[in-house]
Amino acid sequence: MMPDCPVCQHRATTELLVLQNVPVHSVRLATSAEAANAIPTGEIQLLACEHCNMAWNGAFDPKLVHYDGNYEETQAYSPRFQVFQQQFAAQLVKTFQLEGKTVLEIGCGKGEFLEALLDAGAAQVIGFDPSFDPTRARSDARMTVYAELYPPSRNVELTLPGIDFYVCKMTLEHVFQPRAFLTQLRTAIGNHDCLVAIQVPALERILSTTAYWDIYYEHCNYFSADALAKLFAVCGFAVIESETIFDDQYLNVVARPVDVEQDKSPCTPLPFAAFKHKLHTELAAWRERLQPAGTRQTLLIWGAASKAVALLSALPELKTGTTLVDINPHKHGTYLPATELVIHDPQQLRDRRFEVILVANPIYLDEVTTMLRKLGIQGEIIALN
Ligand SMILES: [Zn+2]
Repeated sequence: MMPDCPVCQHRATTELLVLQNVPVHSVRLATSAEAANAIPTGEIQLLACEHCNMAWNGAFDPKLVHYDGNYEETQAYSPRFQVFQQQFAAQLVKTFQLEGKTVLEIGCGKGEFLEALLDAGAAQVIGFDPSFDPTRARSDARMTVYAELYPPSRNVELTLPGIDFYVCKMTLEHVFQPRAFLTQLRTAIGNHDCLVAIQVPALERILSTTAYWDIYYEHCNYFSADALAKLFAVCGFAVIESETIFDDQYLNVVARPVDVEQDKSPCTPLPFAAFKHKLHTELAAWRERLQPAGTRQTLLIWGAASKAVALLSALPELKTGTTLVDINPHKHGTYLPATELVIHDPQQLRDRRFEVILVANPIYLDEVTTMLRKLGIQGEIIALN
């Protein structure tokens, strides 16, 4: 029997994909090839619910996944991402009049967005994230970060009624049982006047681009706009804004707490069947495209994170002939999970020539092309869709 949907609790209607032996972490730092190869693996059974347009890993085991200081998720070394982050903070502050207000971020990573919110005019920011590293954040009396999960397990002194805005970016897709999580937040808010913004990878884009490499173990949930609206509704929130940003890669929804469950209009059908049908041909096309360069040891992948791990897990023949590079200095000299591939500093590859240079996220194509030119690194540049 298929498991129930974590959002609407109907029985799953479709099994989209099954993957065995998937590394459970894709951005944890491994200091040796042995450690990278010894990373635990799990199973992905990607299921879909056509009642609310949700997809999730029905085989997810939350005990396998751990978040701590070795979890290197930041994209903030990219100038393109920094600009996006600053603009998004400024947009939130302007749209929701957060000047002089207090914002709490659930899953604040290394704290860069909290800093951007302060720069945009927020008076006070509070963050929660077990991967937070105080040595990498600004020292600012207006910013308090707890290096732990939210809600806190111990009794953190928190005057919840003082919080005007909750933001939770690129985190809810990691949360096992998102309905319990959001219900708990709703209970904590009570009848206090505030707003909640949630940002997740957009399922619509994963389906439309057949983005196989956007399905990985840490993400147990894949929300569409319909599914996230439904989740908000069943947990006591009314959606006031829903949009996609960052080239439609991210879905951003803002809601306010309400007393009664909101009616949710019927879902527009999503192309689940087409995605399932296209997955294998898409993967075969990438194998054909990348394997010759991989065999000749002339394949460079720019971006040593989740997409690279997912791609190399799907095409394991590339695990030996690929060179990896990443802009994040904390990754240099470490190994990509589930491979024996070391992650290079772009400077180390100066004046090298590759047959194919694969940019893991197309949004960074311009930025990476500029850096490649500056470093004299040559080759045909292509991007994962
Ligand atoms: Zn559902």
